[in-house]
Parts: sequence; C-alpha cells; structure tokens
Amino acid sequence: MSLSEDLEKARDYADIFALVKRAVKRTLGEHRVGLMLYLGNLPRNVGAFHPLGTNEIILNRRLIEGERCERRRKAYIFTVLLHEYLHALGYVDERRVRALAYRVCVENFGREHPVVDVSITGPWTDLSEEEFDELSEGLELELVKDFERFDGRYIV
Ligand SMILES: [Zn+2]
Repeated sequence: MSLSEDLEKARDYADIFALVKRAVKRTLGEHRVGLMLYLGNLPRNVGAFHPLGTNEIILNRRLIEGERCERRRKAYIFTVLLHEYLHALGYVDERRVRALAYRVCVENFGREHPVVDVSITGPWTDLSEEEFDELSEGLELELVKDFERFDGRYIV
C-alpha cells in the first residue's frame, strides 16, 4: 500500500504531516502529538530546524517557496517534516535519523518516488542553537495554524 496517491491529494501542511505520522506509525510503530509548525527563512542548505527539547518545527520557507514543481515541493515538505518528526520522537543521531527516514520513505512510497530521492540528498545541514539565534532578524517566523488534526482517538 503506497501513500503516494494520498500525498498527491494533500492540500496543506496538516494533510502532509498526517501522512508523515501514518508512515512512521506503520514502519516504526511510534507516534507523538502536540507539535507546532512554523515557517521561517533559514539558510538555503537547511531543510528545517527542530530546537531540541521543544515541540516546535521550523520549516525553511525559502526551500519550499523556491520549488515550482508541486510534486517535488510536496516531496520536500514530506521528507523534511519526517526528518524533524523523527528528531521529535527522540532520535538525536543524525545518521540514524537519515537511515530511518529513508526506510520510512521506501516502505511507504516505493523506491521510485521523489520522497526517496529527497531523503537521500537532503538538504540535511543542521543548525546549531547559536546559529539559529543569529538568524533572528531575517527569520520572519510564521505559525502554521491547525497544523495538527485530531480525529478524536487521541483525546483523553
Ligand atoms: Zn537532523
């Protein structure tokens, strides 16, 4: 069962993130809720940033808006969110995260899908907290509303 049709139908960040969670749940059996997504202007070689110990993911607006091909743009969004979601699940080691992300992409989309390419090529440069702090001026953080959808099953 491939998720590629669902990714084509996805309309926004929340749709794509719901697919990230489904894919990770299927491959690794792990799940987490309560994350917040921001868009921000990060350096070109950085896909996204997840400040350790927070529930925030900052996606690089430049990377997403610079990609004209929709299929490719969605592949970036999916794979970059997947990478940061794995960090948020507690995987710290960069090589391990990349290997897991590759596995999740192959198992859920098949080898030919662009998400697999992106999971190999990146951009996967990580920012340090210091580098991130120095960006603050041009960053233009913007919160993505309704990033996480709840279907009722996780409400206590
Ligand atoms: Zn990383």
